[in-house]
Amino acid sequence: MPKIQRVEVQDIRFPTSRELDGSDAMNAAPDYSATYVILHTDAGDDVTGHGLTFTIGRGNEICVAAVESLSSRLEGRSLSDITADMGAYWRELTSGDSQLRWLGPEKGVIHLASAAMINAVWDLWAKCEGKPVWKLLADMSPEELVRCLDFRFVTDALTPEEAIGLLKGREAGKAEREAAIREHGYPAYTTSAGWLGYSEEKMRALCREAIADGWEHFKQKVGGDIEEDRRRARILREEIGEERLLMMDANQMWDVDEAIVNMRRLAEFRPQWIEEPTSPDDILGHAEIRHRLAPIGVATGEHCHNRVMFKQLFQADAIDFCQLDAARLGGLNEVIVVLLLAAKYDIPVCPHGGGVGLCEYTQHISMFDYIAVSGSLEGRLLEYVDHLHEHFVDPVQMRRGHYLVPEAPGYGVTMKPESLSAHQFPGGSAWQ
Ligand SMILES: [Mg+2]
Repeated sequence: MPKIQRVEVQDIRFPTSRELDGSDAMNAAPDYSATYVILHTDAGDDVTGHGLTFTIGRGNEICVAAVESLSSRLEGRSLSDITADMGAYWRELTSGDSQLRWLGPEKGVIHLASAAMINAVWDLWAKCEGKPVWKLLADMSPEELVRCLDFRFVTDALTPEEAIGLLKGREAGKAEREAAIREHGYPAYTTSAGWLGYSEEKMRALCREAIADGWEHFKQKVGGDIEEDRRRARILREEIGEERLLMMDANQMWDVDEAIVNMRRLAEFRPQWIEEPTSPDDILGHAEIRHRLAPIGVATGEHCHNRVMFKQLFQADAIDFCQLDAARLGGLNEVIVVLLLAAKYDIPVCPHGGGVGLCEYTQHISMFDYIAVSGSLEGRLLEYVDHLHEHFVDPVQMRRGHYLVPEAPGYGVTMKPESLSAHQFPGGSAWQ
C-alpha cells in the first residue's frame, strides 16, 4: 500500500448566493464551499486520496488552516499502517495532539478539518482496493469493521462487543439487500424546490419538474414569517398533492415554545417531520418538542458535531430521524459509530445532503447502512439537492427519485481539476 507523502489543501468556493440556491431562514445567502484535501502518495499522481468538508463561504480559510495544522499527523504514514488499526488512528488524529484538541474537543472547525482528512484516507483506501466505499465497508467482517471505530464516550450506550453482535445479526440477507439496492436504488427526497429565497413561480415550476421526474418526497424551508411559511406550504401541497410526503426544515430559527406554536399552525399541511426546530445543542429541547408535537416527527443532525451528542439524542428519545452529516462528524469512522447507535435505538438515519459533495458522500453511508447495519429502508430517505454535481468526476446518478448505486472506486468526492482551478478562492475565474 502507498505511503502518504504530502497533504494538499485548497479553499474552494462556489458563488451560489448569486441565485439564492441553498437559502433558508438562518442561512440567507450561502456560497457553498469546500475545504478540499488531496493526499499525495509515493505511488504517483494516479494514486491519491480526496476528501472535503463543507462550509458556506467566509471562514473556509480557517478550516483550511486547521487542516494545515493537523497534516503532520498524516504525512509520512503508510496507508497500511493506518488501516491496520483505523480506530486507533482516528483517535490519534482527533485527540492525539492535546493542544489542537483544545480547539474542540471533537467539534467545530478542528473537527470539520479532521473529517476532510479522514474521508480522504477512506477514499484512498477504497481506491487502492478498487471498490466504492460502501462496498469496502459492506465486505468487511463485523470484527474488521469494529476495529475501524473508536467507542470512547459511548460505551454506556454501545460497546464494541454489542456492535459486533448487532452486525452479526444482520449478516443474513446482506447479499439480497445488496442485489435489491443495485436494482432499485436508494429512495430520496428533494430539497431543491423549497429554498426560502425562491419565488412562487420558481417553486411551482420546480415541483412540476420534480414530479414529472418521479419524485415523491419534498422538503420546504420554514422559519421565516409564519404566514409566509403557511402560504408556501399551501403552494407546495397544491403542487404535490395530499399523498406525497412533505418535510419541513426550520434551520434552528425557533425557541422551544415558539417551535411548538409555529408547528401547530403548520400541522394542517401534514409535515412528515420538522427538522432543526431549535438550537442543535438543545437535546432536552428537542425531546420536549417531540413529546408535544407528536405525531409530527422531529429530525436533526446536520449541526450535531459528534457521536456523544447523537448518543444523548437517542437516550433522551429526542428525535424520530437522525440526520448525521458526513463531514461534520469526524469522518466516516464516527459516522459508522452513529449508524450503529441509531440501529440500536431503532432510529432511522436520513443523512443531511444540503451542501457541495454531501450527496456524493451520503449515498455510500446509506447504502452501507441498509446492507449491513439497519437492514431496513423503513422511514429512511436520502436528501437530494440538485446543485454543483457537475464538478465531480463521478457525480451522483439519480433515477425516478432514487440514488443509483455508485460503482466507481473511492468515496465519490473527487472534483474535476478544471472545477478546482476555476473555484479557488479568491484567485479562481469564478471569483473574478
Ligand atoms: Mg436542514
